[in-house]
Amino acid sequence: MNNPIATKKRTREIQEKYNAHTKKSFGQNFIVEPGVVDKIAKAACGGGHDVVVEIGPGIGALTQYLCEYSDQVVAFEIDPRFPEVLNNEIGSDHLEVILQDFLETDVDALLEKFEKEGKKVRFASNLPYYITTPILFKLFEAKRPIESITVMMQKEVADRFAAKPNDKEYNALSVITQYRANIKKVMDVNRNVFWPSPNVGSTVLQFTFKPDRPVKEEEAFFELVKACFKQRRKTIYNNLSVYLDDKEKAAAMLEKAGIEPSTRAQQLSLDDFVHLWKTNYEN
Ligand code: SAM
Repeated sequence: MNNPIATKKRTREIQEKYNAHTKKSFGQNFIVEPGVVDKIAKAACGGGHDVVVEIGPGIGALTQYLCEYSDQVVAFEIDPRFPEVLNNEIGSDHLEVILQDFLETDVDALLEKFEKEGKKVRFASNLPYYITTPILFKLFEAKRPIESITVMMQKEVADRFAAKPNDKEYNALSVITQYRANIKKVMDVNRNVFWPSPNVGSTVLQFTFKPDRPVKEEEAFFELVKACFKQRRKTIYNNLSVYLDDKEKAAAMLEKAGIEPSTRAQQLSLDDFVHLWKTNYEN
């Protein structure tokens, strides 16, 4: 890559040229290390023939590499200062910039449009930290297929998504996410590769959707999972009793699923939760 944007020097030059200094309110921390964006882009683009949708391109550190490894990149940016920067500084005919709050974007309509064109879609982002979970859940809830989602987020949040039973980070979010997706860690990223540097380290995760989702009433299942984790120190029996407002029913449900009432939610695997649900609600 000639003259990458993801260096401190080039970032500073572009910021001066366009008076485009970082805004904390939009979660702006730009990557200033080309090796990092190169690795994220390679992981995100697959074979290079799918559409890559980037959320929050900023001044283009990652976008530039996505355009290198993919034939078509569509980038959604909320900050009105950046489309001009991206179009001028990257100047690739692989790139389309859309000035729009991604949280307001109709993801299913977007996916449907590309599906009609016979194209598969991948997502890539160095996510704005303040809306990591809402953006990811918006994608997880899409009704049409997504090939992969490759995203950088705060390490603590990534640890929660990927946590396994008995890990201290394991919670309802871990179970619900792992129900929907396989999660692969692409890399940990030191906080010094960002400008400005955040207080915490980051991790890049890649999500790919599981083909089989065994529960029919997913929303109700997710509510049950959340209820089981409601008070971490309490047993699953206690949490379920409160949720159902019925101690006997809680005990009967656990017995039916073969789960000891003294168990805590954080000891149960995704399969255990699915089993608890199915033996009681889908038999
Ligand atoms: N991709 C660039 C990089 O890696 O250097 C910038 C990443 S920065 C962490 C997050 C970017 O997301 C910023 O450019 C910010 O303006 C943009 N952003 C914040 N909220 C957004 C939203 N709701 N929709 C689209 N973009 C958003």
